[in-house]
Amino acid sequence: MRIEDDWITRGGTQALCRALSQTGHRALFVGGCVRNALLGVPVSDIDLATDALPETVSDIAKKAGFKVVPTGIAHGTVTVIAGGIPHEVTTFRRDVQTDGRRAVVAFSGQIEEDAKRRDFTMNALYAEADGTVIDPLGGLPDLLARRLRFVGDAETRIREDYLRILRFFRFHAWYGDPDHGIDAEGLAACAALSAGIETLSAERIGAEMRKLLAAPDPGPAVAAMAQAGILAHVLPGADHRALAPLVHLEADLPPRWLRRLAVLGGEDPSDIWRLSRAESRDFGLLRDASREDGSAAVLGYRLKSHLAADAILARAAMIGAPPPPGWQGEVARGADARFPVGSADLMPALTGAALGARLKELEQLWFASDLRATRQDLLG
Ligand code: ATP
Ligand code: MG
Repeated sequence: MRIEDDWITRGGTQALCRALSQTGHRALFVGGCVRNALLGVPVSDIDLATDALPETVSDIAKKAGFKVVPTGIAHGTVTVIAGGIPHEVTTFRRDVQTDGRRAVVAFSGQIEEDAKRRDFTMNALYAEADGTVIDPLGGLPDLLARRLRFVGDAETRIREDYLRILRFFRFHAWYGDPDHGIDAEGLAACAALSAGIETLSAERIGAEMRKLLAAPDPGPAVAAMAQAGILAHVLPGADHRALAPLVHLEADLPPRWLRRLAVLGGEDPSDIWRLSRAESRDFGLLRDASREDGSAAVLGYRLKSHLAADAILARAAMIGAPPPPGWQGEVARGADARFPVGSADLMPALTGAALGARLKELEQLWFASDLRATRQDLLG
C-alpha cells in the first residue's frame, strides 16, 4: 500500500527526509498524516518518526538549511520548518514510567517499540518518504474497516494516560464506522476507568472535547460517553439527547463545536474546559439566546449572525420542533436592521438616565414589532 498525496511529494518535505536518510537515519511519516491520507481525508499536520536522537535531528536539519524549533527536546520532538511547513520530528520512544498523565520516555532505535506506545492501531501506521506504508502492529485492516481499537490491552493503556479515554471517543467520532458502532472492549475499559478523567487538566479536557464536538457527527460518540458515565466527568449535569437532532437540523452548515456544546446544558464549561474569554462570552450569549423565545430577526439584530443561527438551531433541537420557516432570511434581515430612533429624537425633552431608559423602552417596542415599527410608529 502506498500514499500518493500532494503533501508527501512537496520539495521541502522530501528534502528533509533525504537529509535524514543520507546520514543513515530513518525518516518515517506517522500518525494522523498517514491515517488521513489512507482514508482520503485532509491532512492537517505532518509528524515524522526517526531513530536519530533529537540533537542529531536538529544538527542534520540545520546543516540542510532548515529552520529548527526545539519544541520538546526532552520528549524527543524537534520542529523542522521545511518548504515553509512545520514538520514535527520525534525520535522513536518507549515508555519507562507512566502515571496517568505524564510519561517518562526513553529513546529507542526500534519502530516496533515506538508503535506500541501509540494509542490506537489506526494511529500506529508509518510511511516511508516514497509513500510505502509500514504497519508494525497490523493496524491497516482496522483503519480500512474504520475500526478504532487500542494498541494492546485497553485498560492498561488507559491507566498509562487517561486522556486516551477522550481520544477514544474523539477518533471514533471522526474516523469510526458509525454503522459498526464503537469497539466494545475499548468502551468497557473507558467506562471502568472513567474516574481517571478527574486527574486531567482543564486545558487537555477542553482541547480534546472541542475536537470531538467539531466532528461531522459527534452524536453517537457523545451518546456512548453518556452511557459509559464519562460525559458526567467532563461536563457535570450534561444531557446529550438534543445533540443528534441538532446535527440533523444543521444539514450542511459547517460543524461548530460551540453550537453543539450549547445543547448539552450542564455546568458552565468556561472553567472546566478552560474556554478563552471570547469563547466563554459567545457560549453565554448562545446558551441564553437558545433558551429564550426571541424571533429570528431579533436574534439576528442582537447577536452576530452565525451565533443567531446557532441559537435558533439549538433551540429547535432542544424543544424538538423545526426552526420557523424562512428563519435564515429573518436572521439576515435582523443583522442588517438599524434601530430607527436616536438620542437626538428625544432630546432636549429627555436627558441623562431618563433618556437611556426611554431608548431601552423604545427598543423593546421595536423588538416586539419584530423590527418592523418605523421611527414614526415609535415616536408617534
Ligand atoms: P490530528 O492531528 O489529526 O488530531 P493525530 O493522530 O495526528 O490526529 P496527534 O494528537 O497529533 O493526533 O498525535 C500524533 C500521534 O501521536 C497520534 O496519531 C498517536 O500515534 C500519537 N499520540 C498522540 N497522543 C497520544 C497519547 N495520549 N497516547 C498515545 N499516543 C499518542
Ligand atoms: Mg497530528
